[in-house]
Amino acid sequence: MQDLKPLKALFGAPKNIVITTHHKPDADALGSSLGMANYLLKKGHHVTVITPTDYPEFLHWMKGNDGVVIFNNGNEDKSKRIVEKSDVIIALDFSSLNRINELGEIVRESKAYKVNIDHHLDPEDFADFQISNTQAAATCELCYELIVGLGDRNLIDQDIAECLYAGIMTDTGGFRHPNTSRNVHEVVANLIELGANNSKVAKNIYDNNSLDRLKFLGFVLSEKLVVMKEYSTAYFAITSEELDRYNSKTGDTEGLVNYALSLQGIVLAALFTDRKEAIKMSFRSIGQFPANEIAAKFFNGGGHRNAAGGRTEWSLGQTVQKFKEILPDYKELLDKEKN
Ligand code: 5GP
Ligand code: MN
Repeated sequence: MQDLKPLKALFGAPKNIVITTHHKPDADALGSSLGMANYLLKKGHHVTVITPTDYPEFLHWMKGNDGVVIFNNGNEDKSKRIVEKSDVIIALDFSSLNRINELGEIVRESKAYKVNIDHHLDPEDFADFQISNTQAAATCELCYELIVGLGDRNLIDQDIAECLYAGIMTDTGGFRHPNTSRNVHEVVANLIELGANNSKVAKNIYDNNSLDRLKFLGFVLSEKLVVMKEYSTAYFAITSEELDRYNSKTGDTEGLVNYALSLQGIVLAALFTDRKEAIKMSFRSIGQFPANEIAAKFFNGGGHRNAAGGRTEWSLGQTVQKFKEILPDYKELLDKEKN
């Protein structure tokens, strides 16, 4: 990790700090935000976490959740005032300001000292201090290393350790993806030593389904999975009516795309969801197949090689049609990863 002296100096005296993270925060986004918030509170700072949107209920157990300001829940003016009063803004788990929607311009215009900690590719240059490590499995892994690097390992308590553990667990797909490095295991071993109850965190996140969500999963798996064997590709396309039918809530489609990827012989999996204001999509791939290239080139998105996302303003049908049209161009790459 780079020289942390500027941050040591920055955090040496009490500051007004805003922590923010990406649209529809996942466990790494919220876990890093609340992990850092709880740590900085202990150091005597005033800290507010502002998220651009809401996030799944299965993350609400994290300490500090009740104080999170959700920007688009009627908190636009309040958020603006908090950002204007801040001395420091810490941007976690995203690499470009368009990932935080309208909050992005407010952050860009702020005079506060900006810190960006992230593991996504192609970081935008908006921060005064940036920790960008695309080799890291999770932003929570980087936050753990930062706190240790600042000499504050002893301040990591059970709550902080569990926030950070959650993000590493989910961004490695439960310690299964190729990003599950030796360092990941070392960091989570440390977090467990510092009090994280790993099985409690896993239960809170993975075994916390509503009946609606589980029935929705059953419906999608039996009725909606499309397999294109020739292209080693499988996808789901979910209409807004189907979401409504199962009372779908934020987070209910999370992880769905992985079921398509779990099929034998599948290299590329996609989930298209009609969110009414836009079609949102998730891509997952195995090996060297660049899911992020498909997301960036054709669907206004981006991400990691094996996990990416994007959005369009076309209809669900048009979006799926576009996806099918580009597959022949990728046939060679898909075939390469097939075996
Ligand atoms: P998910 O499928 O879980 O929503 O997203 C997987 C990964 O794709 C995220 O970690 C993020 O890196 C990336 N991603 C998802 N949606 C977008 C998007 O709209 N734009 C960009 N640049 N990346 C995205
Ligand atoms: Mn992440």
